[in-house]
Amino acid sequence: MILIKNARVLGGEPADILVRDGVIAEVGAPRADGPEITVIEADGLIALPGLVDLHTHLREPGREDAETVASGTRSAALGGFTAVHAMANTSPVADTAGVVEQVWRLGQEAGYCDVRPVGAVTVGLDGERLAELGAMAESAAGVRVFSDDGKCVSDAVLMRRALEYVKAFDGVIAQHAQEPRLTAGAQMNEGAVSGRLGLGGWPAVAEEAIIARDCLLAAHVGSRLHVCHVSTAGSVEIIRWAKSKGWNITAEVTPHHLLLTDDLVETSPLGSYNPIYKVNPPLRTRDDVLALRAALADGTIDCVATDHAPHPVEDKETEWAAAAMGMIGLETALPVVQEAMIETGLLDWAQVADRMSARPARIGRLSGHGTPLEAGSPANITLYDPAPRAAVDPHGFASKSRNTPYEGMSLPGRVVATLLRGRPTVMEGKLV
Ligand SMILES: [Zn+2]
Repeated sequence: MILIKNARVLGGEPADILVRDGVIAEVGAPRADGPEITVIEADGLIALPGLVDLHTHLREPGREDAETVASGTRSAALGGFTAVHAMANTSPVADTAGVVEQVWRLGQEAGYCDVRPVGAVTVGLDGERLAELGAMAESAAGVRVFSDDGKCVSDAVLMRRALEYVKAFDGVIAQHAQEPRLTAGAQMNEGAVSGRLGLGGWPAVAEEAIIARDCLLAAHVGSRLHVCHVSTAGSVEIIRWAKSKGWNITAEVTPHHLLLTDDLVETSPLGSYNPIYKVNPPLRTRDDVLALRAALADGTIDCVATDHAPHPVEDKETEWAAAAMGMIGLETALPVVQEAMIETGLLDWAQVADRMSARPARIGRLSGHGTPLEAGSPANITLYDPAPRAAVDPHGFASKSRNTPYEGMSLPGRVVATLLRGRPTVMEGKLV
């Protein structure tokens, strides 16, 4: 048994949480400990349900130099996550029952965090033929989220068929919205900064046009659409409109799109043209960031998803045009969300729990996660200290990669402990 003493559940009044056999047995008044009870002193700490990420790149199989299921899930546990959805753009691509079961098993063996594989929509992410969606859904991995993430399912007929297909097992298509012809050679957000720097522009319309089309397609066939990493104010308006129709649309935003802007490519203290800021979709403008924050606050955007995208040094520390797109994010997600959403008064901790645990679990149809911190729930618990503020030091990260845009940046908060079904994976900020 574990007794968590004096934790502020969802940021509220201090309470004790008793965990027995992997399940929350009791939440409430202080209780006496006994010799058979492990006590975690949680004065001043906020208790949240274990975080759930809908969008993680674990890179295994194929790019184990960047990340493995084991290193990525250790990174997730340190970030307060108890479940992650592993994206399908591995090598081989996760487009068969065999590959998704392999990833799922690797997650079980590592044991730090539940790994729910995402299945590819099309064979080899080639955008030409539907993958074996049904076989992946029926596999031991129980896939419910399908995505060609990294690439857009740009063919409207194929997208329609995929949306129709997944209805049979309550699946969802998670679209990486990027019209490929409008973004050929694109290097960063299209705007004043890209003009000054002479980098190929990535217009907002390339994202917004696909989102609008897919909302209409999802409504037409009565299916579920999830929009990955929304990055523009215009996308927010389209999603708000689609939701107002009662359509079954959900959306995510990344921590970095809630905090960082495209002018960092020009004026960052880390130097201009620093590929650490090269990411897909690109960092946008201050107005976009403010619209994304407002949308996460009012629920137009359902959840935060990290898009944790590890890359080895040689793929990032090169000239801008040659550098890989993406940044790591699991171990900084909660501090960045605190900075962007809590410190600004836009969300409270109960709402953070909703956006980072309950809703992503529901979108992924992931049972056993995202449940309330109350008796009977699986003991997936994150203990978080919002008080300390420190410069981000990636040297302590468990991720195999170091491509964080936050190095040296002052961010609040620290994950102190993570419990996966009652078993500590992190204690005192360190892996167990
Ligand atoms: Zn993507």
